Amino acid sequence: GPRADEVFQKRKQFLGPSLFHFYQKPLNIVEGKMQYLYDENGRRYLDAFAGIVTVSAGHCHPDVLNAIFEQSKLLQHATTIYLHHAITDFAEALASKFPGNLKVVYFVNSGSEANELAMLMARLYTGSLEMISLRNGYHGGSSNTMSLTALNTWKYPIPQGEIHHAVNPDPYRGVFGSDAKSYAKDVQDHIDFGTAGKVAGFISETIQGVGGAVELAPGYLKLVYDIVRKAGGVCIADEVQTGFGRTGTHYWGFETQGVIPDIVTMAKGIGNGLPLGAVVTTPEIASVLAQKTQFNTYGGNPVCSAGGLAVLRVIDKEKRQVHSADVGSHLLARLRDLQQRYEIIGDVRGRGLMVGVELVTDRNEKTPAKAETAMLFEKLRELGVLVGKGGLHGNVFRIKPPLCFTKDDADFLVDALDYSMSKL
Ligand code: PMP
Repeated sequence: GPRADEVFQKRKQFLGPSLFHFYQKPLNIVEGKMQYLYDENGRRYLDAFAGIVTVSAGHCHPDVLNAIFEQSKLLQHATTIYLHHAITDFAEALASKFPGNLKVVYFVNSGSEANELAMLMARLYTGSLEMISLRNGYHGGSSNTMSLTALNTWKYPIPQGEIHHAVNPDPYRGVFGSDAKSYAKDVQDHIDFGTAGKVAGFISETIQGVGGAVELAPGYLKLVYDIVRKAGGVCIADEVQTGFGRTGTHYWGFETQGVIPDIVTMAKGIGNGLPLGAVVTTPEIASVLAQKTQFNTYGGNPVCSAGGLAVLRVIDKEKRQVHSADVGSHLLARLRDLQQRYEIIGDVRGRGLMVGVELVTDRNEKTPAKAETAMLFEKLRELGVLVGKGGLHGNVFRIKPPLCFTKDDADFLVDALDYSMSKL
């Protein structure tokens, strides 16, 4: 295939200027196998970012490939104006993964579309337009979901009509530390003082992803869901990054906070890289769309549905959520050990295979170690380890590998980080 320089030149010439890339010298990826990626020279990299938290089963997992291939040979597309069992089989399997009355599935093509639809349902169901989301949260790149997103991602004006951004309950940097009650009160204040007393919905990730693997203060969602429901609103969990066993032990991130949402949105890990998203809700909420048209040409197409079903089966067969918990605690323990030795590691956090390492130049002031993070990021790549980078100040390593990542892989990653930090 073509060399990195050539691909990069073409990309600059033919693709829009808003694209950004990791690494000073962009990486040209030509192949993926489970938790590994390969560049054009055949060099292998340990992938600890999974195509932005998307490759759940593993790059080109044979079961998923086979399902896609077999379905493609039979029927690639027909839309939901006809019946097709790939869609209904997948919907049935997906619904079976949810507690309570979360039994109705809508298929879409991305996380943004899933959140658009969830927001529409909340607004129709409640008759209110007022939505509450969290600062430092990310919910998508379409116009409504950009408004829900309260990060400094977008460098242009975004309409914020009827959207309120509550203080994010960040135990490390948040103004109220781990005090879930004070953060929950901020949501109550938004309802009392920012709306006419009625709210359509509250949406949040269960661990903030793009924002830097930020866990919500323990007990937060329970308190907020009560407040929002008392005000007549619905509670939406954005499981785009946290779903499908990533947070370990559980299938869904919301389970780590002991709540059951009214609407759950998902994408990324659901399809192992296929363009696929879904919204799961209760029959009662879904019924608001009964007399209306809600149409999506590609949503739940046979190929993506067959692939999605294969992903679910892989997670079940290989008990990936248990594996995430197991490997995740090993990784966290080793990172915490590293934290004892390097002052620069301000915080190690996360659950399962959704881990954040925040770097600071001063532990008391929590001054973001932006330049050092950038240097270490390049160094890790040189050593053959690809991680993500994020957080408001770009000083958080995001470690969210494919869920087939092993303890040996975790050791390799931590050793590479150790070596890089020793050279700082
Ligand atoms: N929600 C969350 C939590 C996300 O991380 C993302 C993507 N980074 C989205 C929604 C939007 O998903 P998509 O890019 O598929 O539209």
